[in-house]
Amino acid sequence: METKRVVIRDVENPEDGELLEAAEVLRNGGLVAFPTETVYGLGGNALDAEAAGKIYAAKGRPSDNPLIAHISCMEELEPLVKEVTQAGRMLAERFWPGPLTLVFPKSDKVPCETTGGLGTVAVRMPSDPVANRLIRLTGVPVAAPSANISGRPSPTTAEHVWQDLAGKIEMIVDGGPVGIGLESTIVDVSGDEPVILRPGAITKEMIGDILGNVEIDPAITGPMKANVRPKAPGMKYRHYAPKGDLVLVELKEETIRELYRPGSALYKEVSRKMGEWGKSWKIDRESFYMAWKANQEALAMEKQGRRVGVICTEETAEEYTVKVKRSIGKRSSAGSIAHNLYAVLREFDDLGVDVIYSESFAEDHLGQAIMNRLNKAAGYRVLWV
Ligand code: AMP
Ligand code: MG
Repeated sequence: METKRVVIRDVENPEDGELLEAAEVLRNGGLVAFPTETVYGLGGNALDAEAAGKIYAAKGRPSDNPLIAHISCMEELEPLVKEVTQAGRMLAERFWPGPLTLVFPKSDKVPCETTGGLGTVAVRMPSDPVANRLIRLTGVPVAAPSANISGRPSPTTAEHVWQDLAGKIEMIVDGGPVGIGLESTIVDVSGDEPVILRPGAITKEMIGDILGNVEIDPAITGPMKANVRPKAPGMKYRHYAPKGDLVLVELKEETIRELYRPGSALYKEVSRKMGEWGKSWKIDRESFYMAWKANQEALAMEKQGRRVGVICTEETAEEYTVKVKRSIGKRSSAGSIAHNLYAVLREFDDLGVDVIYSESFAEDHLGQAIMNRLNKAAGYRVLWV
């Protein structure tokens, strides 16, 4: 199949003329990849079991891993769900349109092929002007998982989509690089207690502000135990793993204590090194130490003849003397790190390194989603320093 590429001229104000053909492809049961504020989605008619089948086939995705139905306005929610629970309504009112997916009890209109056989349906209303307008013009809810081959990093540019899906789908709508760069937050609001099933740009703290307390599915914070059934079926699959072994570098609690205890040997050593190099105005003691240790470890591996890469940050980049390093963004801006994360992981796959050391980040706010994706890519391998 030949894949058509449509480039949107002004992504903030797409013209209907630019999207009508894509909408028609979707209505007729075809597949169209399009930008959203999170990552690029691979769209198909969510009410058409056959279109759902095509999505699974193009991605190479197991068909019991359910799809998210995307809508353009509140009126499109009612027909998809049996009931809009109170927690669901409160979150939708506050965060839609936006990077939040809500899981509701499903209506009979939604085919089991879309929901992987579940009695619930996941729904999101994207804020991206291209995505939102395309869904509106299509006139049906659009199922849209990330537009990558299953097992690769999610696509954050049309080029990433092209690499994975050219020849397998009818069309790619090119709206430039996405804004956020990580998949939506998923909250299950179908039961009595709302539960976060996947962290994203709508953070636990933001959801807590609306609902009071909110639970977090254990699949988010650690490796899945063999006998536990995750609530988001996608969580059970081995996620993207880089071709090289990814290892996260994390500071022990004890290290952090010593780093800030005047008089400790570590305090003195780090103060001296940072002072000598005139660093203290630029990075904090923890980041400095993490980079220092990561570089040491990477150099040792290089000596053994392994091809090593490092994921660093703008603040720490110059601390590294290893051959291959890539900055993932600014420590002072979690948004920049989320934005670049998947592109950097894709780049490392192309570079052909055997082992990758990555700095780690605080796990609050957006950091929880960043560390969730990094931990999954690393298979929870950590180098504690
Ligand atoms: P993707 O669209 O590739 O970002 O993945 C969609 C994610 O949403 C997967 O992890 C699914 O398991 C999850 N999901 C979709 N529908 C449901 C549902 N009805 N209940 C729980 N999780 C869902
Ligand atoms: Mg995905």
